[in-house]
Amino acid sequence: MPSPGPTDDDVSELSNQEIYERIYAAISDRRLLPGTKLSEERLAQAFHASRTRIREVLMRLSQELIVELHMNRGAFVARPSERDMQQVFEVRRALERAIAAQLATRYGGQALAPMRGHLEAEARARAAGDRAELARLTGVFHVRLAEITENRLFSDNLRRLVALTSLVIAQYDAQAHSACPEHEHGDIVEAIEAGDARRAEKLMLTHLDHVEAGIQPPTTPARGIDFEQIFGTAPAKGSKAR
Ligand SMILES: [Zn+2]
Repeated sequence: MPSPGPTDDDVSELSNQEIYERIYAAISDRRLLPGTKLSEERLAQAFHASRTRIREVLMRLSQELIVELHMNRGAFVARPSERDMQQVFEVRRALERAIAAQLATRYGGQALAPMRGHLEAEARARAAGDRAELARLTGVFHVRLAEITENRLFSDNLRRLVALTSLVIAQYDAQAHSACPEHEHGDIVEAIEAGDARRAEKLMLTHLDHVEAGIQPPTTPARGIDFEQIFGTAPAKGSKAR
């Protein structure tokens, strides 16, 4: 057997943290969609790592609600419910209004250079029609704002919440790559730079309302239709309830 040649990406030395980050990014960027089975064996092969290490990573992802673990059936990319989505946005509103107000109070009167750079990257992706990149960047916008507060509890939680939002969007509307309306990020950054905490907070809340409203839950159930219930008929005698 010929010895394996050099690969583009040598994964043999990846730490658990790096494996975690790669799986996390793939889910967050919607390269792995909700409901995808995450086979321990195949991930172990892909990362040249032991199944024990993969299991540890999957366990951590499940604690962050990004992955669901089922007894006997294994791990799957989470499928957030409508209720999950409402809860995600409840918490995002609470955290992100505080982030916006805090940044305006702290940095009012100066230019937020990292955010300006980020807005330019979003504009470039939009102009190039690169919807996947735009979706990634619009999520990153919210995480970056949280990072600038230098409060890790804000940034860690935002990372999780943005990943969960991506999962919801991927599950509900495969066509909608980004739920962040154009210009709203720029308006928020402007209010922060102007030092207007009230306005920054209000714009953030309105923005999150728009994001949530832009995510349309599916209206047609794909399966599990109960015809007996719909038509008011009883199941045929002898038929087994399923
Ligand atoms: Zn946004």
